[in-house]
Amino acid sequence: MAEAGQQPVIFLSEGTKRTRGRDAQRINIMVAKAVANAVRSTLGPKGMDKMIVDELGDITISNDGATILKEMSIDHPAGKMMVEVAKTQDDEVGDGTTTAVVFGGTLLSKAESLLDDEIHPSIIVKGYRLAAEKAREFYTQIADVIKFDDVKTLKEIAITSMTGKASEGAEELANLVVQAVRQVAEKEGDKMVIDRDNIKLEKKVGASLHESQLVKGIIVDKEIVHSGMPKKVQNAKIALVDSALEIKSTEVDAKIQISDPDQLQAFLDQEEKMLKNMVDKIVASGANVVFCQKGIDDMAQHFLAKAGISAIRRVKASDMTALAKATDAKVATRLSDLGKDDLGYAQSVTAKKVAGDDMVFVEGCKNPKAVSLLVRGGSEHVVDEAERAVNDAIGATMSAIKTERVLAGGGSSDVEVANKLRDYAKTVGGREQLAIEAFADTLEIIPRTLAETAGMDPLDTIVALRSRHSTKEGKYIGVDVYKGKLSNMKDLHVIEPLALKTQAISSASEVAEMLLRIDDIIAGSSKGPPGGMPGGHGHGGMPGMGDMGEM
Ligand code: ADP
Ligand code: MG
Repeated sequence: MAEAGQQPVIFLSEGTKRTRGRDAQRINIMVAKAVANAVRSTLGPKGMDKMIVDELGDITISNDGATILKEMSIDHPAGKMMVEVAKTQDDEVGDGTTTAVVFGGTLLSKAESLLDDEIHPSIIVKGYRLAAEKAREFYTQIADVIKFDDVKTLKEIAITSMTGKASEGAEELANLVVQAVRQVAEKEGDKMVIDRDNIKLEKKVGASLHESQLVKGIIVDKEIVHSGMPKKVQNAKIALVDSALEIKSTEVDAKIQISDPDQLQAFLDQEEKMLKNMVDKIVASGANVVFCQKGIDDMAQHFLAKAGISAIRRVKASDMTALAKATDAKVATRLSDLGKDDLGYAQSVTAKKVAGDDMVFVEGCKNPKAVSLLVRGGSEHVVDEAERAVNDAIGATMSAIKTERVLAGGGSSDVEVANKLRDYAKTVGGREQLAIEAFADTLEIIPRTLAETAGMDPLDTIVALRSRHSTKEGKYIGVDVYKGKLSNMKDLHVIEPLALKTQAISSASEVAEMLLRIDDIIAGSSKGPPGGMPGGHGHGGMPGMGDMGEM
């Protein structure tokens, strides 16, 4: 590389690390590949789980790409960009995080070979961009149409997205998920819109996954504060209060000097009167249930109980918001503001024992679009992973309903599209053709990985898949990981939403393009964390990630 004469021109402050050209690319690619490799083995029903232990010793066991990457502390900027890919996938689709990250890592790994063959990065970027657009088009072309009323297929989508995460109760959970999503879906014009916030997830350890349930309303993980209050209120008129039903001024420390017993009595009477006043305001509003975001004094509890009002205290802000939305109540920030019009409505508010703890069920809400899914499981880790599985399933089902398009899974759609991309590459020609072919090979990382997890020979599997897909009957042929052979994935009911693939393609190709364009890494000395910007070819940037397997 030609430098400015023999004398290097120095324009960076001392201690700044600079890596240029192929070295810079090599480092970014290495890091991105390492991140992808870290999650690749979790892909599919036979994928393995990862156990992540944080500095405090807390353990997360998961099969979910986004979760694993979130829990791993990744320092290198290229690694962070890969984590971003998983996050975007999670936000946009709710499923397919591993797929997106593995696509990204593989695109970069294939680009590395092209770079070694002296193909300029801008040619690779151009080819990848053409290929990404075509790939999205081809996935859309081969997708099947699904309708909102096709409950059977929706269930298959939910089950497909949960396999590997909640194998035990997948069938039941899928049922609940589809019911929940269909319940909150609304028709707008000829489109279905779904507000994800209408589905609340609650989890409770104890019992088995099979005992998970869907509640048409809101579940609040709190108890009714006083034993004298009704445990069940029909025709609930609900007040949501954001101020404490206590007399405590936390801002000012007051000292009260009392010189005789009468004064003390008067003081206590005064306090009681103030609490009584507060309760009277609630009574006056006509409420028979109060959810309070702050504390409720014992004396106030007593007055509320006497008035036949059930009260719940220290309710989470998120629960207050959900309750407001579901029951159509307004949250009163001051008791004096509380009026009849602020109250929400539900057919019933009931305290129920779940795994020995009280939970409050608010059912038959004014807004029927509010539902809660109570996930049960034998241990904390089981419940946590089931919750993630349910989250994925909700995302996948919603996505399928929104775009009304689905694909067969097990790598079948990927091989189909890869074949089409290779045909397309020939029409482009030149060096871009090589990049487009590399893109096609990248898509096949899905069936290749599924084959590996099933103990099949990855190369033989790909060759066989390509040839089956060259015929019209082969469209749905993918990897049956349970039997270790090729099968029709549609017949096996392995179905996923179209958007899962199109979104994964978009984010993965974006991150690959962005990293390929970088030919200069300049790391300032002032902040430069020790592992942040390695200057060579080593594994310095990603401590502990050198052993994550090969892509
Ligand atoms: P992601 O985070 O990308 O969703 P998963 O671990 O959920 O990763 O695996 C998804 C992949 O597993 C998809 O390609 C899907 O088609 C495939 N898959 C799911 N169920 C089956 C099955 N029963 N047989 C074969 N492949 C399956
Ligand atoms: Mg998934």
